[in-house]
Amino acid sequence: MGKKRVFKTEVQQLLQLMIHSLYSNRDIFLRELVANAADALDKARFESLTDPASARDWKIRITPDSENKTLTIADNGIGMTEEDVVENIGTIAKSGTKAFLQMLEAREDKSADMPELIGQFGVGFYSAFMVADKVELITRRNGAPAVKWSSNGQADYTLDAAEKSEPGTEIILHLKEDAAIYLESWKISEIVRRYSDFIAYPIVTPEKKIDEEKNETTGERVLNSQKAIWLRKPSEITDDEYKSFYTHLSNFGGTEYLKAVHMTAEGASEFKALLFLPKQAPFNLLMPDIQKKGLQLYIKRMFITDECKELLPDYLRFVCGVVDSSDLPLNVSREILQQNPLLGKIQTAVTGKILSEMKKLLENDRENYQKFFVEFGKIIKEGLHTDRANAEKLKDIVMYESMNGEVGKYITLKEYVDAMPESQKEIYYITGDKRDAVASSPALEYFRRKGMDVLFMTDPIDEWVMQSMFQYMKKNFKNILKGDFEDAENAGKIEKAQSEFAKTVEFLKKELADSVSEVKFSSRLADSPCCLIVDGAALSPHLERLFKAMNQDVPVSKRILELNCDHPLIRAFENRIAAGADEAQLSKYAKVLYDQALLLEGSPVADPAEFARNVQGLLSAALEK
Ligand code: ADP
Repeated sequence: MGKKRVFKTEVQQLLQLMIHSLYSNRDIFLRELVANAADALDKARFESLTDPASARDWKIRITPDSENKTLTIADNGIGMTEEDVVENIGTIAKSGTKAFLQMLEAREDKSADMPELIGQFGVGFYSAFMVADKVELITRRNGAPAVKWSSNGQADYTLDAAEKSEPGTEIILHLKEDAAIYLESWKISEIVRRYSDFIAYPIVTPEKKIDEEKNETTGERVLNSQKAIWLRKPSEITDDEYKSFYTHLSNFGGTEYLKAVHMTAEGASEFKALLFLPKQAPFNLLMPDIQKKGLQLYIKRMFITDECKELLPDYLRFVCGVVDSSDLPLNVSREILQQNPLLGKIQTAVTGKILSEMKKLLENDRENYQKFFVEFGKIIKEGLHTDRANAEKLKDIVMYESMNGEVGKYITLKEYVDAMPESQKEIYYITGDKRDAVASSPALEYFRRKGMDVLFMTDPIDEWVMQSMFQYMKKNFKNILKGDFEDAENAGKIEKAQSEFAKTVEFLKKELADSVSEVKFSSRLADSPCCLIVDGAALSPHLERLFKAMNQDVPVSKRILELNCDHPLIRAFENRIAAGADEAQLSKYAKVLYDQALLLEGSPVADPAEFARNVQGLLSAALEK
């Protein structure tokens, strides 16, 4: 009797789910197990580059046994040590397990496309329990003893010593009553062809052959074509082939991609590539720690690694695909390979190609491009800051919502500039947490009145990006919540207001001395009595809030309070002061005025209770009149 070990609670829950709840699309268990086998073969083949003696006849074998109702998936790949087994499929729950369960919980229909997504969460092995009520895994790593893992999907699993001649892994599925169909060779062959045709190793199944002397012998039938899809002509690749290849590559799950891009580079560095722009962002798009990055790298059709980060800039990490190089050296370690300058050259070419494909999409398939940009724009925009060489190209393909467009309508910078009235010299934008918040900012009023548009920048990353976005088409960018506002047309009027309402200005300065650095008039406003602006050199309110949310100390910058001289409230204020009204009362007015301006800016008021008390006081006074 071997060692018994208990699964982590999350794994137990996951297994229960696999066994009892997931009935649709169970076929994908085979895709997941074959993909694991292919990964194991990739690793072993890579090792054999530096240890030729370990080279074998690489193969994946699928064997149905009708008598015992078992299906066995075997590979002669890298195999696992006992430690590996415990770590990979034993007690230790991977980050994906929890994420997968949480996502399931959030869903109403648990069985719908869930199995499709299993691969995305790195829990593919457990999908075996959709079709089996007992799973045995016998594995051996070169130079280590063989080990057998077995479990019936309940609370625990057992580890035993085992015998195994060739290194590799064998997974024996004891099929459930209702899963007998997976013993049928037509079914096995159908699934393999659908999901795993392009796997670069033969996937074989035993086949009885009658030889010339009428003796029955057992041979093998290869089920997959093993065609390297990236080397084939695009015109000869079917949609289904693209789809299954995409599913195989992408960690996002599903079969939906937006565009497949073929590349053939000749000259300084020769390579072929097949890249995919995905359609939908994965659940973990913004969690870099559990997200795989990079492209698969092949050298002369030989698999090298599936996470070659050097082939893509970070801001294109949602792109998946294969690069097959003809001039990188084969017999070196991965570490040395990563330093090869040719990788940088390939990255440059791949980046250029992806950006030009995005531009083409923008020009020819606007609707889908916009959808794509809404999903991945937050990441693409990082490039504006980090990839100076391509910054101009990126500026052509980024999109924003704007004041003049309805919710969900995005425009490019070029469209913004083309629509600028002649008098407008700068590109105006406002930053904030979300559309609703920025759209109600009083700072927009002037631009609305003048028929100008203002870009809405509501991704957290925008603030950071804008620090390095100085110009587009020779026009400067200007944050309308920051710095001085020049309006020659109304200069005279503003100057006059400054003396006409001198008492108000002075009073507000005194009352709000702790919060504002200056009180002045501007022609920025139309309907609101006042708004808050930050000094040109200070952090914008949005950034200030972001830092605070991350518990970081931020220098407190006092705002500038700008007043609207055309607003009746300001005149009434001045009249009250002139008439010698109660100062305590006026002081409350001043506080409310400031607090509501903070709220409109999207910032919290310092003392909500005081704000409420002041408003209540004003309401009672108004109602009692
Ligand atoms: P993922 O493959 O996404 O990491 P799985 O649950 O499918 O998640 O597999 C967990 C791990 O178990 C793999 O990462 C791998 O290290 C190991 N493993 C699974 N199948 C095999 C196999 N046939 N040969 C060697 N290792 C394997």
